[in-house]
Amino acid sequence: MTEPAPGAGSDPAALTTTAVRDGDDWVIDGRKWFITGADGAAFFIVMARTNDDAATMFLVDAGTPGLTVGRHIGTMDHAFTGGHCEVTFERCRVPQEAVLGEAHRGFAHAQVRLAPARLTHCMRWLGLARRANDIMLGAVVERELFGSRLADLGLAQHLIAENEIDLAASRALIRTAAAVLDEGGRGGAETSIAKTFVSEAVNRVVDRSVQLCGARGVSHDLPLARFLAEIRPFRVYDGASEVHRWAIARRAVRRYERTHGAPR
Ligand SMILES: Cc1cc2nc3c(=O)[nH]c(=O)nc-3n(C[C@H](O)[C@H](O)[C@H](O)COP(=O)(O)OP(=O)(O)OC[C@H]3O[C@@H](n4cnc5c(N)ncnc54)[C@H](O)[C@@H]3O)c2cc1C
Repeated sequence: MTEPAPGAGSDPAALTTTAVRDGDDWVIDGRKWFITGADGAAFFIVMARTNDDAATMFLVDAGTPGLTVGRHIGTMDHAFTGGHCEVTFERCRVPQEAVLGEAHRGFAHAQVRLAPARLTHCMRWLGLARRANDIMLGAVVERELFGSRLADLGLAQHLIAENEIDLAASRALIRTAAAVLDEGGRGGAETSIAKTFVSEAVNRVVDRSVQLCGARGVSHDLPLARFLAEIRPFRVYDGASEVHRWAIARRAVRRYERTHGAPR
């Protein structure tokens, strides 16, 4: 999906990559970037504009002439295999069977994938935050200073308690959203709230854990500094926090107006 400016990012309607019908085929032209896992991928799911207000998703095999995986863009995270790459399409010809789902329904199809994808990231990064919290708890019960255990000093207890609250709230929001998906719902609203909260809460949890581990927290003797670098980008990808808050607020206002009526 994502393209360099002025193309699609937070605003999918800015999509500049095109796919044009040519006989029985489609010809794709455009430039994507930050495509996770691109290096070594067997195929790509490509979003391309197919008329003024519609897009289509295509399954394009790696090795298709015209498709080039370019540079790995250096980012602060390192956990994903295949990097975050630039991918270009130059006169990239694919058959009609390459259309994923229905032609011109790409934006609607993308929504189906987005909700569970957001939750997968939430679960992965909540796991990492729990691990950071465990490392921190191990450190604060061991560390003696000012005549007591660090775990028993009030300001440290405040940070420990805030971590517990963020972890519990994250878990609850993920479970709420997962229950909606399990029941066959789309879960757009619930996954949006979970994504916004969890992406920010896991940063807070790992950051507090770094703090309570002192110098070791920022060193590479512990994995916490690396954890921070892995989870920070989650506040940007799969919808930046600001985009989700914007959608959450609009939903809330629409809900109010549905039940109370818009003011005259
Ligand atoms: C590590 C990583 C992996 C990624 N993997 C993929 C991938 O596999 N495939 C893919 O297609 N994309 C991927 N992306 C791209 C990601 O989806 C985009 O970065 C994201 O959608 C934001 O788009 P943008 O970077 O163009 O920022 P922009 O759209 O330029 O937005 C910049 C900032 O503006 C703010 N903003 C945006 N909208 C609003 C608003 N309505 N109100 C107020 N503020 C706003 C936000 O703070 C946002 O971060 C990845 C990105 C990263 C960092």
